[in-house]
Amino acid sequence: MATTKSTLSAKELRDIKKRLVDERKELETQLTTIEEDAFSGPQSEMAGDPGFDDENADVGTSTFERERDLSIENNVRDLIRKIDDALERIEKKTYGICEICGKAISKTRIEALPYAELCIKDAQAQSRSR
Ligand SMILES: [Zn+2]
Repeated sequence: MATTKSTLSAKELRDIKKRLVDERKELETQLTTIEEDAFSGPQSEMAGDPGFDDENADVGTSTFERERDLSIENNVRDLIRKIDDALERIEKKTYGICEICGKAISKTRIEALPYAELCIKDAQAQSRSR
């Protein structure tokens, strides 16, 4: 088991980046679908406005459905943010390093969760303390 190598090869990084970019695109599509679903009325706000303000989106859809859509939407947005962060870390060459302990995140974990910002140990510790 020769993991715990902190440096991912340039090729590996390139692959990860591609994966992240692809996944981000998919999430964007998902987001658009949710939004089109939610605003099937006249006020179809196009994506691209970063100052999203969901609170005043008081459309006639049933509250339950809207709530459900919102929570999915928030999840998707959250993921997109994580992917953006990961892409930024790739640019800054800090990708693959745990933000808490500064150790390398194992490749198996990166494989499974390319936008992971914490090593498995710290991620577990965090989810336990929440
Ligand atoms: Zn850590």
